[in-house]
Amino acid sequence: MKDTTLYDELLGLKQPWYVAGVRLEVVKQEVEVEVRSKDTTWACPECQGRMHIHEYTERRWRHLDSCQFKTIIVCQVPRVQCSEHGTQMVQVPWAAEKQGRFTKLFERFAIAVLQECSTSAGSGLLKISWDEADGIKQRAVKRGWRKEEKVCPRIGIDEKSYGKGNKFVTIVASIQEGSYDSRTCWRR
Ligand SMILES: [Zn+2]
Repeated sequence: MKDTTLYDELLGLKQPWYVAGVRLEVVKQEVEVEVRSKDTTWACPECQGRMHIHEYTERRWRHLDSCQFKTIIVCQVPRVQCSEHGTQMVQVPWAAEKQGRFTKLFERFAIAVLQECSTSAGSGLLKISWDEADGIKQRAVKRGWRKEEKVCPRIGIDEKSYGKGNKFVTIVASIQEGSYDSRTCWRR
């Protein structure tokens, strides 16, 4: 299988989009995937009116890694000139946000990571800046995401003996109203 066909399948691209080239930058630990579009008419993103390409603009998006390599989608994106809405970049199906730098799948993965750890830890794992990680979080919050509270406001600790002899267990329990969860620490 050619690498362009492989990335076509991995990205799930549909007409008129296709992968035209794949470049491996070993020193930068990056894979650059060049996506192009076949000749067609395009919709103005505001009014959906069909029109021809006016010009192109190069855009780059961070996508999910290919093994340990950062994967970047690069595309000369068509721009149309609508008589009502001016020059507009057409919608690309993989972009999370109109002016964003991440693909939908990358942002979804980043949100899953940021739900489990701090912004600093998440940005390190995702190899993005703190500001970029915070931007992803803020956009997710606008869409209705709330980070689950992980800290127990009240805990209870107790010791109990069991069996014969001096055997004890320590019981640590969340005593938050409406919930009960306990962790038992065994002592020899
Ligand atoms: Zn328009």
